[in-house]
Amino acid sequence: MALIVQKYGGTSVGSIERMRNVARRVAKWKAAGHDLVVVPSAMAGETNRLIALAREIQPQPDARELDVVAATGEQVTSGLLAMALMQLGLRARSYSGWQVAVRTDSAYSRARIESIDTERLQTDLAAGVVPVVAGFQGVDAAGNVTTLGRGGSDTSAVALAAALKADECQIYTDVDGVYTTDPRIVETARRLRTVTFEEMLEMAGAGSKVLQIRAVEFAGKYRVRTRVLSSLTDPDLPVGEEARSGTLITFEDDPNMAMEKALISAVAAQRDEAKITVYGVPDRPGVAYAILGPIAEANIDVDVIVQNVGRDGMTDLSFTVARADLPRALAILRAQVQPHLKCREVTGDARMAKVSVVGMGMRSHAGIAARMFRTLAEEGINIEMISTSEIKITVVIDEKYTELAVRVLHKAFGLDEE
Ligand code: ADP
Ligand code: ASP
Ligand code: MG
Repeated sequence: MALIVQKYGGTSVGSIERMRNVARRVAKWKAAGHDLVVVPSAMAGETNRLIALAREIQPQPDARELDVVAATGEQVTSGLLAMALMQLGLRARSYSGWQVAVRTDSAYSRARIESIDTERLQTDLAAGVVPVVAGFQGVDAAGNVTTLGRGGSDTSAVALAAALKADECQIYTDVDGVYTTDPRIVETARRLRTVTFEEMLEMAGAGSKVLQIRAVEFAGKYRVRTRVLSSLTDPDLPVGEEARSGTLITFEDDPNMAMEKALISAVAAQRDEAKITVYGVPDRPGVAYAILGPIAEANIDVDVIVQNVGRDGMTDLSFTVARADLPRALAILRAQVQPHLKCREVTGDARMAKVSVVGMGMRSHAGIAARMFRTLAEEGINIEMISTSEIKITVVIDEKYTELAVRVLHKAFGLDEE
């Protein structure tokens, strides 16, 4: 008998029928002798709808109130799922984040989980009750409702699995695992039976939204055995078969890790990026800090950073931010940084994307970057910025080439299905 946390994404709970299927699936695992904690997302499209409602009233919604509104989507599905489980004769009880409590910091719309009280859940589990915990939400030290960032139910589930020392966290979604690239963009993408935690971390950071990056961080830090699998298969599929399906996130020293031979495991893309360039800044210590410090203070995430080689004591610095943050970042730079540093010009380009290749094989093989750049050159795709890690190469390109770049790289690295 194992303790399993099962997370069901928006599509998986997207209709009453789908919720009934989720309940059947949960009942099946319970009947096989396991203890279950269920974490639903809001119904597909619901979080967007709630955020749009808030924007109708306040174009820049108040951060605290926006989280109050956005968190309701998961409250609805947790209650409905508990009912669906009861209809199958199971004992179930729903909880919002604050009822558990899932304790977070106070960064509205991007809160981090700090700790989880497990007492109520343990009591339920001991009594054979299935707790259904609303994903995506928590409560800060002052009792305010917080949300964990888009896609945050993944993180709720993995963090609960860590806190409960669960045997496995199962992320049920609308695809049957982690693929070599987004299977909705490239139909020749292949499912990976396993992916290492490091690769998954890089993929999530590079735009593969199948798992939220913070969920992967939790899985790594607390060594939570995490599996991504489909909620759209027959809910009565035998448990043994389902337990081996999907994609398992492995740790490198895990003896079960399949030695996949590919140099590159996946291609990831992230649209909606923007590039900012600050021209003509003095080439002296402290300048990068003078530019990026105020950006960090405004809670704007900076991703790829490139500084040019200095000439005549002057240099240029470019970096990327999420497109939604571009107006704010430009305003800060023009108001605070430009007058102070006396730099020549600050420009913003709103239509950028980053495309990345990820793979453990990169550590022991040369020439991957060259192959990547040649492949893009052959398609006439200009590379604007480059950044690398030990197992990832990222290029920043014009957004209109995103899909083309993903396709040609997927093929060039031999990831297309035979
Ligand atoms: P959920 O609502 O279940 O959390 P998401 O939409 O957040 O689902 O994540 C699943 C989606 O992630 C898939 O439908 C797929 O389009 C996308 N995706 C992006 N990259 C990948 C990848 N490498 N493997 C699988 N799915 C991916
Ligand atoms: N419902 C939230 C969102 O749409 C959280 C999630 O789905 O994981 O972002
Ligand atoms: Mg998701």
